Amino acid sequence: MESQGRLYLVPTPIGHLADMTFRAVEVLQSVDTILCEDTRTSGILLKHYSISKPLKAFHLANEHRALASVMAQLQEGRQLALISDAGTPGISDPGFLLVRACVQSGIAVECLPGATALIPALVVSGFPSDRFVFEGFLPPKKGRETRIKALLEEERTVILYESPHKISKTLEQFVALGAAERLACLCRELSKKFEEVRRGTIAELLQQAITLPPKGEMVLLIHGK
Ligand code: SAM
Repeated sequence: MESQGRLYLVPTPIGHLADMTFRAVEVLQSVDTILCEDTRTSGILLKHYSISKPLKAFHLANEHRALASVMAQLQEGRQLALISDAGTPGISDPGFLLVRACVQSGIAVECLPGATALIPALVVSGFPSDRFVFEGFLPPKKGRETRIKALLEEERTVILYESPHKISKTLEQFVALGAAERLACLCRELSKKFEEVRRGTIAELLQQAITLPPKGEMVLLIHGK
């Protein structure tokens, strides 16, 4: 009988190389090919865990184009793993299109539990974590203000991904839309050497971002209304 193709989504560390699970390593060692965003970035991780497998580029710029050939491999019975540069594939990273195609074609899909930035940020914020909204990155221009206004009406904790270049502008925009006194939390460089959690009102975080610009990767949390 022909073997069945299977897609594994494998989370990888968001900063600390040791945040790989044993199963993540086992799965990456067992598959035929690893799909990854950047072969150089993933190469460092794979070398660290002595994983030597063929790599195939699968990133935002080529995921539409690459889909057909990846699906053909799965339909031929290959076992593939998708990883991203950091964290869980499909979370503000490529993955959704491929998973949807697998579901539609009856290909087995498995996502391993593991590293992602939003969950440690939510838990360490001290904001209610029983119900929350993950918004990923805010739209850069069109629809941005409307989205922020809607988020300010949200009763659940809001989680946003943000970049160091835009954080001050984003906080300024929240202040301009009347949220200066809303509690917020900025989690920076989670699991890395310079991990930092800043807590305060949005106005306070803005002031701090101006005097001491936060560097690196960050998650912004807004307390619910
Ligand atoms: N797939 C990833 C995940 O599961 O979290 C997210 C990928 S997205 C392209 C990258 C964004 O995640 C960064 O801009 C930042 O907002 C957040 N992020 C990733 N690593 C982080 C870290 N170590 N500390 C704080 N935020 C992080």
